[in-house]
Amino acid sequence: MISGMTDFETDILVAGAGLNGLAVALLLAEVGATVSVVDPLPENQLADPDRDWRTTAIAQGSMRILDRLGVWQKDWLGGSITEIRIINKNSPLYLHYPGHWLNEGALGCVVPNAALWRSKFERASASPRINLVLGTAIDAANINGSAVHAKLGDGGVVRARLLVGADGRASPTRKRAGIAERKSDYGQISIVTTAAHEFSHRGSAHERFLPSGPFAILPLPDANDDAAPWAHRSSVVWTEATSNARRMLELERKDFDHELASRFGDQFGEVSSVGPIGSFPLALVAAEKMIDQRLALVGDAARTIHPIAGQGFNLGLRDSAELAIRIGERLELGLDPGSPDLLGAYQSARLMDVAGLVAATDSLNRLFSNSLPGLTLIRSLGLAAVDKAPPIKRLFMKHAMGLAGQAAGLAGSDPV
Ligand SMILES: Cc1cc2nc3c(=O)[nH]c(=O)nc-3n(C[C@H](O)[C@H](O)[C@H](O)COP(=O)(O)OP(=O)(O)OC[C@H]3O[C@@H](n4cnc5c(N)ncnc54)[C@H](O)[C@@H]3O)c2cc1C
Repeated sequence: MISGMTDFETDILVAGAGLNGLAVALLLAEVGATVSVVDPLPENQLADPDRDWRTTAIAQGSMRILDRLGVWQKDWLGGSITEIRIINKNSPLYLHYPGHWLNEGALGCVVPNAALWRSKFERASASPRINLVLGTAIDAANINGSAVHAKLGDGGVVRARLLVGADGRASPTRKRAGIAERKSDYGQISIVTTAAHEFSHRGSAHERFLPSGPFAILPLPDANDDAAPWAHRSSVVWTEATSNARRMLELERKDFDHELASRFGDQFGEVSSVGPIGSFPLALVAAEKMIDQRLALVGDAARTIHPIAGQGFNLGLRDSAELAIRIGERLELGLDPGSPDLLGAYQSARLMDVAGLVAATDSLNRLFSNSLPGLTLIRSLGLAAVDKAPPIKRLFMKHAMGLAGQAAGLAGSDPV
């Protein structure tokens, strides 16, 4: 429900109503907790598609979690990824994941962020266990005995057994708790736009590693508007060194489209951009720890990774699922959902998945985003070698789909 009342008690207080804040609230409500979610932005801004019109490549494991929460919409399957091609520049050697290779349904699905947020918000608004307090921030949080006392911007006070920080890359919750962070600027900006193209993508996603950054093409459903001569659409995440990106962003649309087409390739015929063009400066931000006294961090508040593998939200969703499962077990036994041993177990359980993806995305970007002589051939041969080694190839894909290790258990076994 959406509440105007800001003086109350709840099991769990969540800072942030972004994609991860709403996901953790839904998962916690599912295991029986009462949850309040606080965000300084009002509903109309959070829901505004122009505020975040990126798309998210949702891994199969995440699709299953969202489906269980009643958030998954069948028509999103129009953005199903049925094959992936990973290419070094324009090399003829590439890594290829064909459709249904793992018999796990689609490899993933591309969903507009605004639609994903709206579906979660509607589900959360309808839940009797979730209290949404939008348009006011958490200004202070102090531990008082076995509770967190949070002061809101509008003067309200919330008492909870645990505070969950889901307040994004700059996380005021993380900063307030004095948790140190490792920050490394990539010197890159991701340009995000929608491409209209002549031929259907047939569910094909492409990641082309270019010297100044990765260029990703992600399938979207066809559009029935007249924004372009062609109905076929793909989402583009085009990462460039900062100075190049700024130059691209200042170009007239026809010149921008010329640069876009030269990187896009001709696999889908002619191409042009439609709709807004946005930019996201990239940095790795990793919290030194995911927990503190009566505090757990999830999603970008815990770490923000390079979008090279389209895994940031998927990783955050696995944080939330892990935390919710542990809290559910405690609540069932009438135990404290914010105890140090529960939080310690949560952090340990997330260590491998998080450390692995932070390292993998960081090193992939460093390996491929440069034009060092000699490396081009080695990179192309490396991709081709993985392509010819089914066990390694299968392992990579299981991880990318969120179906490896612990994540497999959280996601369940039925493909969407
Ligand atoms: C170009 C690009 C492409 C990407 N593509 C993919 C992809 O394909 N697949 C994928 O899995 N991931 C992808 N990601 C990553 C993904 O977008 C992020 O991981 C995800 O959006 C983070 O969500 P979040 O809820 O943790 O943080 P945010 O979206 O930053 O939300 C944080 C919320 O906290 C609120 N807040 C701020 N201060 C306070 C306060 N004091 N109190 C309470 N609330 C507060 C904010 O208003 C906001 O609503 C991509 C990222 C980029 C940059």
